[in-house]
Amino acid sequence: MNILDIVGINMRFGGLMALADISFNVVKGEILGLIGPNGAGKSTMFNCISGVLKPTSGDMLFETGNRKIRINGYKPEKMTYLGVARTFQNVRLFSALTVLDNVRIGRHCRTRSNFFGAVLRTRSQKEEEQRIVDESINWLKFVGLDKFAFLTAGGLSYGFQRKLEIARSLATDPSLLLLDEPAAGMNPKETKSLVELIHSISDLGITVILIEHDMKLVMGICKRLVVLDHGVMIAQGGPRAIRENPKVIEAYLGRGAADA
Ligand code: ADP
Ligand code: MG
Repeated sequence: MNILDIVGINMRFGGLMALADISFNVVKGEILGLIGPNGAGKSTMFNCISGVLKPTSGDMLFETGNRKIRINGYKPEKMTYLGVARTFQNVRLFSALTVLDNVRIGRHCRTRSNFFGAVLRTRSQKEEEQRIVDESINWLKFVGLDKFAFLTAGGLSYGFQRKLEIARSLATDPSLLLLDEPAAGMNPKETKSLVELIHSISDLGITVILIEHDMKLVMGICKRLVVLDHGVMIAQGGPRAIRENPKVIEAYLGRGAADA
């Protein structure tokens, strides 16, 4: 069963085809790798799936509540509500807020009350707020950041900020999580712990699409990969087939992305 079908997606920016007739499926429960050189269109693909961009043409079908719906043109909030969460290539956090509050903001999309509102709160609102705090702490525990809950997010190391972003996206209760270069800028120890985290996210039953330049990491985690180059899908398949694919070697692996 596929959680997402990408069918002939085109994304045009003026004269540039950032995505040209891209089609692939994402199987429920898998960790799918999305790789390719800089400018290939990987982040643009995430922007289309998460509702940041509306594709110029093509279809995106997302499975929710046992049916497939066409999500083209849905707004980001709607996609979050339907179960798609993401992190960004460049960390986006509220750096002046606490670590805990950054996760609470993610959690609030599943509740009625507004994070920034409500001075006069009813008892049920207070109870709901307590529940949100408890759930947020649980997500911080899950990524290993609970001991930093009351520090400001901006004070965390880069690797921890990336993990916090993951905790925030998990707090929205996704069925599909899009990770855009989560290991970028991490040291080997942080990367190792990230790999464990991605596996435990997958163990929760969450489907993951992973954009990553660290070939050792992505080939180790993903059983299936999709390769883009200049907006075109040049290959898809298992790690071994991708590593040996002449087109992929020519466009990407042979050009500094090695270590595969
Ligand atoms: P990748 O993530 O694979 O490095 P991107 O998806 O970020 O690549 O970019 C693919 C191409 O689309 C690049 O040439 C980039 O400059 C262009 N691009 C991405 N987003 C926009 C945008 N919002 N407006 C115009 N061009 C864009
Ligand atoms: Mg990118």
